[in-house]
Amino acid sequence: MTITSYNPADPADLVVAVEEPGAQAVRDAVGRAAAAQPGWLAAGAGARSAALGRIADAVEAHADELAALIVREVGKPLAEARGEVARTAAIWRYYAQAPFTPSGAVHETAAGPGLLLTRRRPYGVAGLIAPWNFPLAIPTWKAAPALAVGNTAVLKPAPEATACALRLAELVAAAGLPADVFTVLPGGAEEGAALVDAADVVSFTGSTGVGRAVVRAATERGVPVQAELGGLNAALVLPDADIALAANHIAAAVAGYAGQKCTATSRVIAVGAAYEPLRDALVKALELVDDSVCGPVINAAARDRLTGAVATATAAGATLLTGGRAPERDGWYVEPALLTDVPAEHPLAREEFFGPIALLHAAADLDEAIALANDTPHSLSTSVHTGSLDVALAAADRLDAGMIRVNAPSSGVDFHLPFGGAKGASHGDREQGQAALDFYTVSRTVSVLPGGGA
Ligand code: NAD
Repeated sequence: MTITSYNPADPADLVVAVEEPGAQAVRDAVGRAAAAQPGWLAAGAGARSAALGRIADAVEAHADELAALIVREVGKPLAEARGEVARTAAIWRYYAQAPFTPSGAVHETAAGPGLLLTRRRPYGVAGLIAPWNFPLAIPTWKAAPALAVGNTAVLKPAPEATACALRLAELVAAAGLPADVFTVLPGGAEEGAALVDAADVVSFTGSTGVGRAVVRAATERGVPVQAELGGLNAALVLPDADIALAANHIAAAVAGYAGQKCTATSRVIAVGAAYEPLRDALVKALELVDDSVCGPVINAAARDRLTGAVATATAAGATLLTGGRAPERDGWYVEPALLTDVPAEHPLAREEFFGPIALLHAAADLDEAIALANDTPHSLSTSVHTGSLDVALAAADRLDAGMIRVNAPSSGVDFHLPFGGAKGASHGDREQGQAALDFYTVSRTVSVLPGGGA
């Protein structure tokens, strides 16, 4: 079988075609990574830090080329692609400092001389499975912390992002990382499952169903696993908010990169008197969105699933306020859509749909809005738009989401803070920031007592 990846804006443009390597190739790659790991750890903090810093330099030096490749392979608008490349370099640079940070603590003995220590150590080979929507940033926010603390890593990218991942591997190799310390192995479900079966620690980002299977398989083997999954994210708008600003933030979170972010807004909950002005402002803002913000969706199947869902929702009584059509043009485009009165049992109201579509709900008060926002297992990121500190504090206390963003779009991530969802949107430890360094290491307790000779 061949893995192919096409340009979503120009489906005639084949970006890459590679032979699927198969499960045995994954096992071989993990074996080589395991053999390389003790040397990578023993090279020391200075060598690991310098190597990660050189990768950051290489990403920056190739920024324009990488941004263009992201645009071509996964259809991300250029401004966002540039932002992703800049973030990718920043993540490598951030984790380049990590080898020098403390890896444990010293404790007093209960009685008598000696030292009691904790020390965090790497697991061995990190198996990294990534989605296509952040084709450089997600592989990087998994690989950089794993490598910083002395693991080696095998990355299996999503088929749709194969060219980006292979180019990242080339830049990493050119930056002088020893052989087999970071391997990119293209593939699909077979290679992904083989990686879960062979790695010493597993980090997965992708859809909920696949992620649950990965968590089960890794847990069965007794290896640590984290999984960041799909979201069905809400934006709450209070009457005291700056409605025009809120509408702009929400339009960006609904339609930015065609809604193909796990943190995209797909449910807008307007409280009381906010409803009508917000509805009008949001329709206007969505209608102003152009290709520089929205872009195509990843493939024809996604486009057809999205337009089909809008059609079944309207057939079931929903009102389409704007968008929702696939325009007559090359590429897999869907106009940003806003719907009201979608029946509660319709898939658009219950499942992540990963496209530029949002549902507008009315809530009588903050309590009802928070209850509505929390009424999903897919709680990754919730935004709250308000001028009131009390509302912001209530939201921070009572919203059941991994990320709570006041007066900011639900989409948006700071790489130096922990990142992850609540309930069904996440499993295991957080990614990014210090949390990732903890995930890729295990604590050992060391007791050093006098040998009696002194
Ligand atoms: P996907 O679940 O289809 O694929 C994710 C990865 O898993 C790919 O590399 C795929 O090849 C691999 N895979 C498929 N079957 C597998 C199996 N049986 N065993 C092991 N690996 C397997 O997701 P996608 O379409 O690539 O990405 C979109 C999804 O990712 C959305 O649901 C989105 O919400 C989610 N996502 C989540 C976050 C987050 O941090 N929560 C971030 C970005 C994307």
